[in-house]
Amino acid sequence: MRYISTRGQSPQLSFEDTMLTGLAPDGGLYVPEAVPLLSVGTMRRMAWQSYEDTAFDVMWPFVEGTFTEDEFRNLIAEAYDGFDHVSRAPLKQVGDGQWLLELFHGPTLAFKDFAMQLIGQMFQHVLAKKDARITIVGATSGDTGSAAIEAFRGLDNVDVCILYPHERVSEVQRRQMTTPLEDNVHALAVDGTFDDCQRHLKDMFADIAFRDEVGLAAVNSINWARVMAQIVYYFTSATSLGAPDRTVNFTVPTGNFGDIYAGEIARRMGLPVDRLVIATNQNDILDRALRDGDYRTGTVLPSVSPSMDIQISSNFERLLFDAYDREGQAVARVMDDLKSDGGFQISQGAIAFIREGFASGSVSEDETLARITQTLSDAQELVCPHTAVGLDVAEDHHDIRVPMITLATAHPAKFPDAVEKASGIRPPLPKRMADLYDRSERVTQVPNDLVALEEVIREKRKR
Ligand SMILES: *Cc1c(COP(=O)(O)O)cnc(C)c1O
Repeated sequence: MRYISTRGQSPQLSFEDTMLTGLAPDGGLYVPEAVPLLSVGTMRRMAWQSYEDTAFDVMWPFVEGTFTEDEFRNLIAEAYDGFDHVSRAPLKQVGDGQWLLELFHGPTLAFKDFAMQLIGQMFQHVLAKKDARITIVGATSGDTGSAAIEAFRGLDNVDVCILYPHERVSEVQRRQMTTPLEDNVHALAVDGTFDDCQRHLKDMFADIAFRDEVGLAAVNSINWARVMAQIVYYFTSATSLGAPDRTVNFTVPTGNFGDIYAGEIARRMGLPVDRLVIATNQNDILDRALRDGDYRTGTVLPSVSPSMDIQISSNFERLLFDAYDREGQAVARVMDDLKSDGGFQISQGAIAFIREGFASGSVSEDETLARITQTLSDAQELVCPHTAVGLDVAEDHHDIRVPMITLATAHPAKFPDAVEKASGIRPPLPKRMADLYDRSERVTQVPNDLVALEEVIREKRKR
């Protein structure tokens, strides 16, 4: 499989180079040149085979050429071995025709583990083969940083440095980053905001000398390999409810549009999905865009579902690429407008294309908390605030003839304050990490300054 940029001005790459590169040099995102179609027979088999076997069937066409079959099966097995639940992504019924897809049984209790754990294994494999070493630097407001540290801890050919805003992440999130003590993973507490961390990260990538010296790489949510790993659970869940011989719908709590875009790829691979429903909190740029055809940024409002507090939804560019008939120039133009004017009008043809497959809704803070309360009384389930946003929107879009699957993106114990406020119950951590609050922490505090940060990263990778 070859990969092309959504802005049309970058060379085509193999899967391996796409994964290692992340963002295309023309500023675009990589997408597969063509989406493979799975046979009905292959999909029917998924109803009874293991998560790992389905993962292989779904992802193999995308990685062929980079790994052998045996290698890729082994990487998948390693990636999901540390998950708590034998089915990896179990489905639970929460109402008539309403289902929750639990994506929080991985090591850091959020769906990001599905992609990050596999990426860790794939990076290590290709780097070891080349005898190369890289430094992954990431900025996080919480979930991504912990998932990355957990995925890369102890791997030989990768160092990981995660920048987070000092005293501005939750205690669970901080401890998930500071308690892994392997000497290739480093939590760096920056005296500044999340925006400062992101700015320093961007400047580091622009500092060519530094980038080459440390072999800088990124695993943020625009990396194609992350989207790819998330396609799998759309297949496992839909086929367990009768697909491909029955149509299903999905509602996805959405921020950067990576998770729901994986659902769009699943549909193009042949999975019968009628609607993909975008659920947003009060940061509703995508809901407004679908309604008005105007994609326009606002200011980020902090919410009880912080992992969806975004201003720009980066992966939406991938959908726009298809909506604009895969014309890179058209995408480059609207992205320029977004940068200079803070928004753009989506063309008639493109918005019609998007509305055909997607619906949307947004949820206020009060509605989010009320939905947590109601789900507990109706279904005896305690859900995280992101999942509550999904369930609230799912109800508005539920057609009783079509099963609705809402993605449960994090474990309630990851957001204990909001859950307790709504339900009166402080959700306990799963058994295997019940001692998280007793483990010793290791963190390096860093001034809010690029030069100082680069120096710390140079030191850390010397070990
Ligand atoms: C990252 C995240 C989301 C948003 O996912 P996107 O792929 O960015 O749309 C939703 N919920 C939780 C808990 C997350 O960590």
